[in-house]
Amino acid sequence: MAMIDGLPPLRDVIRDHDLVAKKQLGQNFLLDLNLTAKIARMAGDLKGCDVIEVGPGPGGLTRGLLAEGARRVLAIEKDPRCLPALAEISAAYPGRLDVINADALSIDPTDRLTAPIRIVSNLPYNVGTELLIRWLTPAQWPPFWDSLTLMFQKEVAERIVAKPGNKAYGRLALLAQWRTEPRIVLTLPPEAFTPPPKIHSSVVHLKRLEEPRYPADGTILSRITAMAFNQRRKMLRSSLKGLAPDIEDRLVAAGIKPTDRAEDIPLEGFCALAREIARK
Ligand code: SAM
Repeated sequence: MAMIDGLPPLRDVIRDHDLVAKKQLGQNFLLDLNLTAKIARMAGDLKGCDVIEVGPGPGGLTRGLLAEGARRVLAIEKDPRCLPALAEISAAYPGRLDVINADALSIDPTDRLTAPIRIVSNLPYNVGTELLIRWLTPAQWPPFWDSLTLMFQKEVAERIVAKPGNKAYGRLALLAQWRTEPRIVLTLPPEAFTPPPKIHSSVVHLKRLEEPRYPADGTILSRITAMAFNQRRKMLRSSLKGLAPDIEDRLVAAGIKPTDRAEDIPLEGFCALAREIARK
């Protein structure tokens, strides 16, 4: 394997630091540095960008991001066993890698970074969706980040890019597609990871839109989509009846048939309904 830096191969790093993977931390490591550099390139030109990486582990993707020219990487890792390996990378790239030993769900690292900021991570499966929803639903839009380049289980990636009529279409697709342009850019088989997971994984690149695709109040849209997809096989006049006493009229005013089901309604329809519900 061609080396992208002068640091030891990741197999040696894992052996020397005794980083036996822990399932409860979602630890499936990428050891091929050519592959991690390729994933880093999928985030676009990183020169002049600060990057947040959640879960660097032994640092394969971190090394890819640094080798590809990221101005600075802020890596948040919950497992303290990984810190010595990450300190070696930090020493090889002076002033460009900071590591925070914390749970990514419990810290806000934004005040330590300078725009433009990109988020690039091979996310731990147990917290990936929750982090994505947080990044997609900030109080203000545009958010602090320009793009997200994230590895998920393939099935989650498909839910992010799904279109109406597809069984993967739901709340995650609507949240993502309302305010970003999401694309699956790479799919990897289990053997790409150590240890191999049971399923395939995919990298999704989400480029933020400066304005949401259609006007709507985010809180109302979120409430409508939660109600509609909690009972996705029901007709909307029934799943949404708690929203307004005249829900059938509001659905019609938004151009939606009250007998339609959530999975058949495009994003534009949900946004039109959110505007109807917002009208007194
Ligand atoms: N980036 C490495 C790679 O690609 O080889 C490791 C990816 S591994 C799928 C996920 C990493 O996230 C592990 O290193 C794990 O310890 C870390 N992790 C798990 N839960 C976390 C959390 N709540 N906050 C921060 N890191 C977490």
